[in-house]
Amino acid sequence: MIHRTVATWQTETWQEALKNVIRTPEELFSLLKLDPALIPAAHLAGRDFALRVPREFVRRMEPGNLNDPLLRQVLPIGDELLATPGYSHDPLDENAANPHPGLVHKYQGRVLLVVTGSCAINCRYCFRRHFPYADNRPSRAQWQQALDYIRHDSSIHEVIFSGGDPLNAPDATLAWLTDEISQIDHITRLRVHSRLPVVLPSRVTDQCLDWLARPRFANTLVIHANHAQELDASVERALIQLREAGVTLLNQTVLLKGVNDSVTALSQLSERLFACGVLPYYLHLLDKVAGAAHFDVPEQQARQLHQALLHSLSGYLVPKLVREIPGEPSKTPVI
Ligand SMILES: *Cc1c(COP(=O)(O)O)cnc(C)c1O
Ligand code: SF4
Repeated sequence: MIHRTVATWQTETWQEALKNVIRTPEELFSLLKLDPALIPAAHLAGRDFALRVPREFVRRMEPGNLNDPLLRQVLPIGDELLATPGYSHDPLDENAANPHPGLVHKYQGRVLLVVTGSCAINCRYCFRRHFPYADNRPSRAQWQQALDYIRHDSSIHEVIFSGGDPLNAPDATLAWLTDEISQIDHITRLRVHSRLPVVLPSRVTDQCLDWLARPRFANTLVIHANHAQELDASVERALIQLREAGVTLLNQTVLLKGVNDSVTALSQLSERLFACGVLPYYLHLLDKVAGAAHFDVPEQQARQLHQALLHSLSGYLVPKLVREIPGEPSKTPVI
């Protein structure tokens, strides 16, 4: 058991914080003192994929600034409604590789478990925006099918908890799954992909640290931060606790126009991640999902940015620039 000091101001549990996320443009605009003229567009764009953002993430935004890099990631805007050639509803062809509900086996040696379809935050650029993910979670019986699949394929060495956001699930479920997986001899690594330690750091509870720090596995947590401003003192504390529990911390970022498409923004993000005990892993080109075209950074510009990062940062602070091409056996490096 790892004990942590709970800040006295932190009276709200993460479950309460999840229930109390901001869901209306009115409230977001009022908190940030933004021009209400844009509220109708936010309603229209939010019909397909609702506005959803935790309050503590909003507290890291600059009031009055419509171009705030954190706000841009969550605010539904009129541009989302423009149909753009080449942008589709299922850019990753996710429906292709599911041998069982909740299990995706696309790459050799590792499988992805869709632990829950829900997220704490709705990121406007996410390919998930068009998936009718149900909020209800797979039953134990369905999990048994997925676990049997893993048991019977000894070429699988790593299980990845994914979603949605897997840390939206209760610790009891995650601890149970971790126990089941730890009984499979050929699994040597467990990985969790989650944005919650960034957008809702109170999610990193003692119970969470408990199952994540199981000695049977070398555990990795891949967080998702796109801008240094996301990593405030509360996030830093949560990440340091994870590090102290022996979890390897990596970060993935999506390259987003108007959010982090500059050498300065990307360098500051890498430096800030490192200060929080996290190494940059992937810098993803945007998935071409309908409604997200206004975030696109052209490939040529992405290459130049990546080159500039290589020339200005220590090698281990430069994430791998990749894109996801359906049918390929891994993420595809962009060089
Ligand atoms: C991205 C991804 C992984 C993990 O890939 P790594 O390159 O090992 O990080 C695994 N399975 C699926 C389906 C993925 O999309
Ligand atoms: S947290 Fe991840 S999966 Fe959820 S909406 Fe954001 S980018 Fe998509």
